[in-house]
Amino acid sequence: MNMVTVLNQEDMQTASDYVNNVYEKILSRNPGESEFHQAVKEIFDSLVPVFARHPKYAEAGILERIAEPERMITFRVPWVDDLGKVHVNRGFRVQFNSAIGPYKGGLRFHPSVNTSIIKFLGFEQILKNSLTGQPIGGGKGGADFDPKGKSDHEIMRFCQSFMTELAKHIGPDTDVPAGDIGVGGREIGYLFGQYRKIRGGYEAGVLTGKGLGYGGSLARTEATGYGTVYFVEEMLQDHGHTFHGSTVVVSGSGNVSIYAIEKALELGARVVACSDSNGYIYDENGINLETVKLIKEVQRARISDYINYHPEAQYTEGWQGIWSIPCDIALPCATQNEIDEAAANTLVLNGVKAIGEGANMPSTLEAIKIFLNNKVMFAPAKAGNAGGVAVSALEMAQNSMRYGWTFEEVDSKLNNIMVNIYRESVKAAEEYGNPGNLVVGANIAGFIKVADAMLAQGII
Ligand code: GLU
Repeated sequence: MNMVTVLNQEDMQTASDYVNNVYEKILSRNPGESEFHQAVKEIFDSLVPVFARHPKYAEAGILERIAEPERMITFRVPWVDDLGKVHVNRGFRVQFNSAIGPYKGGLRFHPSVNTSIIKFLGFEQILKNSLTGQPIGGGKGGADFDPKGKSDHEIMRFCQSFMTELAKHIGPDTDVPAGDIGVGGREIGYLFGQYRKIRGGYEAGVLTGKGLGYGGSLARTEATGYGTVYFVEEMLQDHGHTFHGSTVVVSGSGNVSIYAIEKALELGARVVACSDSNGYIYDENGINLETVKLIKEVQRARISDYINYHPEAQYTEGWQGIWSIPCDIALPCATQNEIDEAAANTLVLNGVKAIGEGANMPSTLEAIKIFLNNKVMFAPAKAGNAGGVAVSALEMAQNSMRYGWTFEEVDSKLNNIMVNIYRESVKAAEEYGNPGNLVVGANIAGFIKVADAMLAQGII
């Protein structure tokens, strides 16, 4: 049976006018928020066929409502460094959409954090969380704090100050933060400690990514990277390829990258490069993951140190050059907009077969166009990196049950979730006239569940 339905041209035009009109309003009401505009544009363009087929969503103002956060909190985060100097950072939490569950999404500590970054991440999170099939709404937060070079005690004091304010707005049934760039197990520990002290009760499900000894889930640390590789492997196999024997480049060297590398290696790939914000390493024999883990997870040092352990490898200043390394599969796992038009063209010229986005929005709109036009298999972030938040939802479930699953149980649930997201995205792309386009498929599949919940719950 041919699932592709040809949509009426007139309905498509009406829908396109509606979507563009709402997009224009968003541009003028949110000036200067370029990352937020980019995330909205990508999603809105995908949804035109949905509005063409189902005018009920436009009639209920779903697009206007979904792009306006339910709540946006900004707050002062004062803290004192080891020398007694006072610093003030800005904290954020966007509670974007709670139609299908409590707000859920990570906290990012990075000097670039601002309203635009938090809103783009929060907006993406709504559809990503919906795709996981778990009952979680969309949220995101963070601060323009730079954890680099800070002592453990400075990190602790910052986290405590941040949580002193954030605690007023979160809870296991309201809003459940987790990690993102600059927020890992150490930070979640300090944040949880402060929350517990303020509340005077043990609400384990208020944060995810916790340590295993106090309510964390096995496989949460690995989940985003493993999930990206599970998703990409499913996509590759669907097209007669596999990780086995492929050459892979992974950008970044944080939590997502490390576990994407680990799973890719396990599946028999050769991973030749990874990076940090200063530069990248290239090891043609395949990078040694244990060394990367030692440098990044234990020493919290720079990736340039890798050549001290492996002098045969090369280190190059400037991370952008990583995309000029020829590879079959590229996994951008560092940060937003790390693959621009030029990098995408280089990857295509070098014969890349597949892109799996482990970071949030790592490809610009122009880069995505280049991949799709050149028939490169493309796993968009909100589908490909949904494994992290999916296992966060499993952590919440375990906290509610006061029971913990084994690593194998969580890992196999993760694998099923990723395969499901792939299939649902393929199906939605086909049903709405864009077969093979997972950007469109993931956006539509994620959107419809949230839109239906919003419809059912009235204009709120
Ligand atoms: N920061 C991750 C993401 O972008 C994980 C969020 C979570 O676990 O809540 O999806």
